[in-house]
Amino acid sequence: MSDLVFATNNKHKLEEMRAIIGDKYKVLSLSDIGCHDDIPETADTIEGNAVIKAKWVAQRYGYDCFADDTALEVEALGGEPGVYSARYAGEPADSERNIDKLLNRLDGVTDRKARFRTAIALIQGDKLKLFEGICPGEIIAERRGSAGFGYDKVFVPEGFDRSFAEMTDAEKNAISHRGRATALLIDYLKREL
Ligand code: IMP
Repeated sequence: MSDLVFATNNKHKLEEMRAIIGDKYKVLSLSDIGCHDDIPETADTIEGNAVIKAKWVAQRYGYDCFADDTALEVEALGGEPGVYSARYAGEPADSERNIDKLLNRLDGVTDRKARFRTAIALIQGDKLKLFEGICPGEIIAERRGSAGFGYDKVFVPEGFDRSFAEMTDAEKNAISHRGRATALLIDYLKREL
């Protein structure tokens, strides 16, 4: 079984990935390989940041690796908060302040269309592959629900009348940006073997 690093320390994301490809790959986290670096996410696209993270691990630690990065893109705001989603309201990153800023910016705006977009970069040897997952939807005017994280309370995916924060993990994963990008990665890894 070959080692594959997932450039994250998010236990939830790791367990999910291990449950799906754990029989084919030994999926390692950043702390599993002794990487406690504050990897700089300095690109101006999510693809760029995913590649920076995956390359950091591949080049400095010598492992095949994949990394993800996600953005919320709001149409009426020209794609904001985009690559800056985590720190939209400034440092330190704070989801509630990010949501307040977003709702203020959209005050009185009727076009509420938005989408989440996840990029995953996979590096195996000298090969680089990118996978993209998109979940379209809209930003509602007030918070709803208590599950999830980030902007979940104000994002209602297309075709649903509940926010991400009103869904179970399984419901959200089945339609989410990250779920879709991950499914493409997994398809690819399974075909590779
Ligand atoms: P990351 O690249 O997965 O860390 O995502 C960057 C930022 O986007 C997070 O800090 C959240 O604010 C937001 N975000 C990413 N994924 C989601 C999601 O599934 N729901 C709500 N917000 C998210």
